[in-house]
Formats: sequence, C-alpha cells, structure tokens
Amino acid sequence: MSADQILDEATEVHPIKTGPAIVVRASNVKKSFGQNEVLKGINLEVHRGKVVVILGPSGSGKSTLLRTINHLESIDSGSIQVDGVQIGYVERNGHLEEAPYPVLAQQRRRIGMVFQSFNLFPHMTVLENVMEAPVHVHGEDPEIVRKRALKLLKRVGLLEKAGEYPRRLSGGQQQRVAIARALCIQPDLLLFDEPTSALDPELVGEVLNTIRDLAKEGFTMVVVTHEIPFSREVADWVVFMADGRVVEEGKPRDVLVNPQQPRTREFLKRYI
Ligand code: ADP
Ligand code: MG
Repeated sequence: MSADQILDEATEVHPIKTGPAIVVRASNVKKSFGQNEVLKGINLEVHRGKVVVILGPSGSGKSTLLRTINHLESIDSGSIQVDGVQIGYVERNGHLEEAPYPVLAQQRRRIGMVFQSFNLFPHMTVLENVMEAPVHVHGEDPEIVRKRALKLLKRVGLLEKAGEYPRRLSGGQQQRVAIARALCIQPDLLLFDEPTSALDPELVGEVLNTIRDLAKEGFTMVVVTHEIPFSREVADWVVFMADGRVVEEGKPRDVLVNPQQPRTREFLKRYI
C-alpha cells in the first residue's frame, strides 16, 4: 500500500466486516439500583452488520441495558461480551477483575454512542466535537482525524457548520454532529438511545435518514427508539422490553405486525 492509500484508509469510515460474527452477547444480565431491579436477566445477541431495535415503555430498562453494553453502567451478574471480550473486566489468575481505566478505554474504543440529548461539548466547535475522542482519548494523529471528521461532516450534510458552536445549530443538526462524532472513532458497534425523542417533529426525519443510511451500509447497531415505521424498515431484529425483561423478540414483521404478547400489543397500539 502506498502512503496515500494508507492515509485514505485512515480518513475513511466503513463498517468493520472482519471480526467475530457476534458483536454483542449479553447473557442473563441483572442490574439493580438500590432495591430497584432494573434488568432482570436479559439475554441479547447482536450479529455483525445487523440492526437490533429495542422498544418498550419508559422505565423498562432500555437505556440501562444500552449503557451496560459499553460499561457506562456496571452489571451485578451475568456477562456482556463485545467482540468476544468481557467489557469492563480483565482476566487475572483465572478470575475476572475490574478493568483499570486504560484497559476499559481500549475495550470501548470501537463503540460509538448517540444519546437522546446529543451531549455535545458546548465550548467546542462542531469540528472539535467530532475530533475529540480519536485525538484526546485514543491519541490519533490530529491531521488524519481532521480529514476524517471533515469527510464525516460532509456525509451528514454539515460541512459548512464545522466552525460553529453547537448552540447555533438546530436539534436535528446537533444530533447529526453527534452521529458524526460516534462515527469518527471508526466504530465496530453503534448504540443509539432514543436519538430522535428530544427533537421537534419536523427534525426527526433528517436524523432517521442519517441512521437509515448507516444501516444500509452495514454498520452493526443497537437502536432504542419509539419510531415504529422506521423500525419496521431498518431493523433486522426487534426486542420488546418491559419491566426489565425481554417480553418478546423476533423479526420486525412478526413483533411489530403480528405481536404475540398482550404487553407488546398494548404498547404498539399507542404508537401506530
Ligand atoms: P428506559 O430507558 O426504558 O426508560 P431506564 O433504563 O432509563 O429505562 O430506567 C429503568 C429504571 O431504572 C427506572 O426505574 C429508572 O428510574 C431507574 N434508573 C435508571 N438509572 C438510574 C440511576 N442511575 N440511579 C437510580 N435509578 C436509575
Ligand atoms: Mg431511556
């Protein structure tokens, strides 16, 4: 490979097609906050290149589950593997110990997350936001990251906003910056937590379109959302959660069109 080709590679963002076929494997995950058991034994598998949509009423544990996948929350029991590695832990002398921060940072290096409330850094420009993690967390060459970030901003239609501060952008634009930021780490896995719930209705479409394009390209994603038509179109697998359990899961045409469980039916009635 020539130097130019290596540089091109480093500034491109594509789905990672190699690596374990199962990107996320959560087994019997339990999590309590005090007396409140929020996850009551969750099993979840996310296959490479597939989109899993998680639906469920407010308070059912969707955000907590998503946050355990990149170890923003620890779990009480069960296990979560990302690309075959038990996230948040290292093995020593045959048993698991909590991973020290640099190891955890390495384990979550390829996991991009997009939050309901955008969570952009207000004191940084759009471009600085997108460049932040690769440069300051992962120690990548700023010039290469800058090229990659600019390409991503172009891809989400916001190149002309590179020098703006987040407060000058609409919610939909801010969320597209957040998506570019999640992509700039060259993710193996993308996690979206209700990415359109905080948006005015007229801005939802632009963000869903961006996520839809990523799904078509073959990124591995877990998306928590209430957007049912979008889920029908984009999801390979739908998981319906209630009260900290998976109540029903399957292909979108089964779970969304022909749900078997009364709780799923009840929930969907409100959204269709
Ligand atoms: P969802 O995303 O499905 O609305 P969450 O995962 O946010 O549900 O919350 C599930 C439950 O866990 C709720 O009862 C919520 O109040 C509780 N919870 C979430 N995060 C925390 C926390 N950091 N401390 C205490 N309770 C929490
Ligand atoms: Mg939530």
